[in-house]
Amino acid sequence: MSEDDTRHPIWQSMWRGIKCRCPHCGKGRLFRGYLDQVERCAVCDEPLAGYKVGLFLPLVVITLMVHILGFVMLNMELTGRSNPLTYIYVLLPLSVIVPLAILPSSKGAMIGLFWANGWSDEQ
Ligand SMILES: [Zn+2]
Repeated sequence: MSEDDTRHPIWQSMWRGIKCRCPHCGKGRLFRGYLDQVERCAVCDEPLAGYKVGLFLPLVVITLMVHILGFVMLNMELTGRSNPLTYIYVLLPLSVIVPLAILPSSKGAMIGLFWANGWSDEQ
């Protein structure tokens, strides 16, 4: 099999991953629980366990968080709501809730990217 045979549409694969679905068929679930990746897709039997995103995931989530919190802070400064207590009430919950909310979709997108490029641990 040549390298080109393992390539798939990247954006479609990542979009399916963002929806926490199998990058191959878009129907099977990508995670067993919150972030536990399935071994194989239950619908199309595509092997998915070899696509390990590792430390790429926190890098992506932290980068997204910096932009989201930076936008919120900038918006609060520009609209005159820069009271320190408002910062605590808004930014502390956001800095906990937003990463937990975007983790599965971020991991799904990374798995979709890895799957589309054939970057698997298993040969
Ligand atoms: Zn599938």
